[in-house]
Amino acid sequence: MNNTDFTFDWPLVGNQHITEYLGKCVNNKHVSGAYIFSGPDNLGKTTLAKSFAKILLCKTEGADKKLPCGRCSSCRQFKDSSQNNSGQTEISEIHGDFHIIKKAKDKKNISIEQVREFIYSLSLSSFMGGYKIGIIKHADSLSLSAANALLKTLEEPKSKVVIILIASDMDNLPATIVSRSQILRFNPLGIEALYDYLVKARKIGREQAKELSRVCLGRPALAIKFLENSETYDFYKQQIETFIDFKEQNINERFSGINNLFAPKLSNQESVKLARRILQAWQGVLRDYLLLEYSFNNLIQNYIKFDKLKIFKARISVFDILRMAKAIRRAEKNIVANVNPKLALEEVALAF
Ligand SMILES: [Zn+2]
Repeated sequence: MNNTDFTFDWPLVGNQHITEYLGKCVNNKHVSGAYIFSGPDNLGKTTLAKSFAKILLCKTEGADKKLPCGRCSSCRQFKDSSQNNSGQTEISEIHGDFHIIKKAKDKKNISIEQVREFIYSLSLSSFMGGYKIGIIKHADSLSLSAANALLKTLEEPKSKVVIILIASDMDNLPATIVSRSQILRFNPLGIEALYDYLVKARKIGREQAKELSRVCLGRPALAIKFLENSETYDFYKQQIETFIDFKEQNINERFSGINNLFAPKLSNQESVKLARRILQAWQGVLRDYLLLEYSFNNLIQNYIKFDKLKIFKARISVFDILRMAKAIRRAEKNIVANVNPKLALEEVALAF
């Protein structure tokens, strides 16, 4: 690389303060040994981390002023990995200098064994003579011993080894790890900005873009997920429909609605994750009821269900909304306290 500054190709919209900062780190050759990407789910933290890895690993010899070049041996390995997966195969299985670990679906924590293997892989010399990059997804679920093992590595950083921790709840990361990392906080975009991105960069129709930018509340990674996987989107719609319908149903119907949201063979950890997501969707519906109450119709998230929301809102008082919001918060706490997730949702259904 020579002194001329590179420009960068970032895959997602939003959080420009972060992409600009990371670009500067690369151009000034001040790349840290550890970063924390923190912020709510579905803002593209992992996508951006992988993209940063691609940029650091790119082997272009100065002819390209844009990183990643997409053509060098390193970039081609990333490309190969994206061609044969639907988000399931990890790049680390293909690129020798890139490693990623995450919480297993049926586990509560990332284990010390996973972290030891990860650290070992990063300690080997680089296959391509450059950086070694490691990403830890769900870093807020590192077990205590796993966090301690990682801390030792962060305390003795090696040059050209970069670790990116991805966390939605930074409060769950030990302060000793946080203090040794560069913290980058991700924010949702405005609805308008997401709409523009979907129309211009993703070339989708205006109606669909309007719908998704609203439903996703400025979370670009969620919009992409819904675009690429209609089953996921349908399932989201089923979650909010179930909640809206509670108002007109008896207890048995409500419980059966909840039961239909849970596939029969979910592990306990999968059920916990699902229940949290459902509660978040339900909170969105309550927020919409409040927006309707105060006539902020243009801010309504689930406007795909606008007519139904409007009819039901007429039968729900602000007091009802606050009571349901309280029931949802209680359910969230109960899930953390290991109450059966389905049972926690049933208690919300009883609050109607
Ligand atoms: Zn390249």
